[in-house]
Amino acid sequence: LEEEQRDPKKKLLFELLKLYSPNDIRSIQEAIVKHAEYSLARNRYSIDDYVACEAAALALRDRLLESWNDTQQYYMKKDVKRVYYLSLEFLMGRSFKNALTNANLEELFAESLKELGFDLEKLYEQEYDAALGNGGLGRLAACFLDSMATLNIPGWGYGIRYEYGMFRQKIVNGEQVEVPDYWLTRGNPWEIERLDVCYPVRFYGSFERLADGRALWTGGEVVQAVAFDVPVPGYDTYNTNNLRLWKAVPFKEFDLDAFNRADYYKAIEAEEKATAISAVLYPSDGTLAGKELRLKQEYFFVSATLQDAIRRFKKIPRSMNQLPSKVCFQLNDTHPVIAIAEMMRILIDHEGLPFLEALEITRGCFAYTNHTVMPEALEKWSVPLFESLLPRHLAIIYDINFNFLEEVRKKYPGDDGKLARLSIIEEGEVKMVRMAHLGIVGSFAVNGVAELHTKLLKTQVFPEFYELWPFKFQNKTNGITPRRWIMECNPSLTQVISRWLESDSWVKNLSELRGILEHADNPEFQREWSEARMENKQKLATLIYRVTGIQVDPKAMFDVHVKRIHEYKRQLLNILSLIYRYQHILSLDEATRKQQVVPRVVIFAGKAAPGYQMAKNIIRLINDVGRVVNNDERIGDLLKIIFLPNYNVSLAEQIVAAADISQHISTAGTEASGTSNMKFSLNGGLIVGTLDGANIEIREEVGEENIFIFGLNAEQVEEERKKLNPSYVLNEKLAKVLEWIESGTMVDAKKHQPIVDSLRGGKDWYLVGADFESYLQIQEEVDRVFRDQPERWLKMSIHCTAGSGKFSSDRSISEYAKDIWQIEACPCPEPAFHADGH
Ligand code: PLP
Repeated sequence: LEEEQRDPKKKLLFELLKLYSPNDIRSIQEAIVKHAEYSLARNRYSIDDYVACEAAALALRDRLLESWNDTQQYYMKKDVKRVYYLSLEFLMGRSFKNALTNANLEELFAESLKELGFDLEKLYEQEYDAALGNGGLGRLAACFLDSMATLNIPGWGYGIRYEYGMFRQKIVNGEQVEVPDYWLTRGNPWEIERLDVCYPVRFYGSFERLADGRALWTGGEVVQAVAFDVPVPGYDTYNTNNLRLWKAVPFKEFDLDAFNRADYYKAIEAEEKATAISAVLYPSDGTLAGKELRLKQEYFFVSATLQDAIRRFKKIPRSMNQLPSKVCFQLNDTHPVIAIAEMMRILIDHEGLPFLEALEITRGCFAYTNHTVMPEALEKWSVPLFESLLPRHLAIIYDINFNFLEEVRKKYPGDDGKLARLSIIEEGEVKMVRMAHLGIVGSFAVNGVAELHTKLLKTQVFPEFYELWPFKFQNKTNGITPRRWIMECNPSLTQVISRWLESDSWVKNLSELRGILEHADNPEFQREWSEARMENKQKLATLIYRVTGIQVDPKAMFDVHVKRIHEYKRQLLNILSLIYRYQHILSLDEATRKQQVVPRVVIFAGKAAPGYQMAKNIIRLINDVGRVVNNDERIGDLLKIIFLPNYNVSLAEQIVAAADISQHISTAGTEASGTSNMKFSLNGGLIVGTLDGANIEIREEVGEENIFIFGLNAEQVEEERKKLNPSYVLNEKLAKVLEWIESGTMVDAKKHQPIVDSLRGGKDWYLVGADFESYLQIQEEVDRVFRDQPERWLKMSIHCTAGSGKFSSDRSISEYAKDIWQIEACPCPEPAFHADGH
């Protein structure tokens, strides 16, 4: 600071920059109007909701950039250890409300806008969802960013700025139709393009080994990665972190080659090829496409990210050996695991380090999070594809593998089977690179995302790695950010909680929610609780009517099943049971119906991967059954089946706050964790679930009397699956339901034959039949409590919220920081002249 005061130029800059954007109504209004005119070039007298939203977002962004710059400078000055969260997906949703709440500016902005004639709540609706992710994995990354900023952890996200995010889903004649999501059409006020931050990334070509141990990789194609920065404000802190997303653009010097040969069109082609890399998110949740472009995406963002991180590390002159004490890369699933080979390449070929030293440094920097136990979802790449696209990396992977297998051989002499099973290279007709094995061999920590999942990793998926390196394996149960997932999406319940706890500190210390149990029996508290929940149900009923034209009664039980459509997630079990329920209701006489049946609105939402035919069949079945049931006058309000199209974060926010029951009914042992289960529970929705993923831990926290658990557990599933053979007898009630489908009550009944066939003849891999009876029973129990013991239901709801403290992503991130990253919080002080209102 003294130095700055001595240099007149710096002194002037300092004086000017001291003028941070003031947070008072007048200044905010000025900023909004100025942005409308000067940034957006609109006439100041004709600002509509959309322009007002953009201009207000820019006014807020100015403020975020100040704290963002200060935070980054402070981290630099303190030379803190940093974590980089590498993820091919960040499912951020909308940012405006989140940024305003985190910065504690919502009220001021609302008032400023009101005077200008705008309703802030309405402006929120103008924003596009940033849907740069498929589902749980991408949303987890977004929640983790929020928690890292809130906990003052020096952590950045790194990913790809896809031009097209997750497709928009339309339902036409009961079927899913995919429409491109060009989310950037109207620009994106939250990103800052950094043309000055760009790196070359090479593909293809060949390499030659040099005498000094390095290799020279040349030829092929080079593209450029350009940075786009998205500020990530923490809640109730000055710290603002960063999400850096890479866009692929052509590498100009490289194009010159083509121009010199007067091959103009070839140069343009190269341009198209380059931009294709960051054009589109692969819309598949779990299973991999095996496409070259996907491997290109993975390497593209990893290469740019490592160059960026190493440049930052090298701002202070020091040896590369110090890298692990300053940098940790957390790999979100295997998608960025190629980073391990890239780091080795940089250390060996650019830094000139010997192989073993490079390996030690690399292993000290990487930690890998596994997200799936399902063999078909474990990423593998064919060796020929790898060799053509990334020849040097394949050679490095061979070297890492050789070194690793030597270690195994020493420990288990003569056990060739073990070598084959552990090898990073899978032998076969076409050799494959096993990315999960590379992730385990090249990192110092491997974690699962729920206790059961981590146990399955140790015992079933990677048992021999666990035996070799038990110390590497850890559990880090997933979490969700309470800012977005209760405070923002459920203001009515948030207010009730804060009023009764006489504080809102629970938003940062979620385990304080236990405090509401003290009031669980208080009728006044119960009344407020149920009124808040009813308000949300009414809002959802309005939305359902707007989207589907179907009127639902908010007093009915709202039973929700929303998530990606997958056989293992068993939306099929749900819809088949609803056919059973429909038939059962019809079998009752009218008086009994009125007396016994609990009116339910069953709400489905979720996307199927475009190439996943069975998932699309399930969507079609849900819609077709819905059409029959919803139009049957004998049923009336007793059962409504709704499919809400285009499930995304914004829709999830509305649904989460309004569910009485939510379903998490995957075949035990298939769902790694689940995070929507945590969201519903936090908002006082009861869970119908199997003993799978984080359901098990939710049961521990809320108490087994407050959750509806049914079905086989993971061990029983394993046993039951052994019995599957062509003469396997399907549950009788389910068999009848399948007959109903074939009977032709629905239009185009034949379309549903593949579903029927997938369950008969011992093909029921996800055990819909084996769990059918216990599922029906638990649903009866759900009805009984809802109908006969409304007070008990209310208390269960309160217990669910009270027991959800563990599932804050703040808890997950604190555990990662302490057990894996070894990173401390670094709160950036707010400049005094800013904090005191200038
Ligand atoms: N998709 C969206 C939009 C979400 O918000 C979430 C989490 O709540 C998921 C998918 C993941 O859901 P689940 O944990 O049920 O698979």
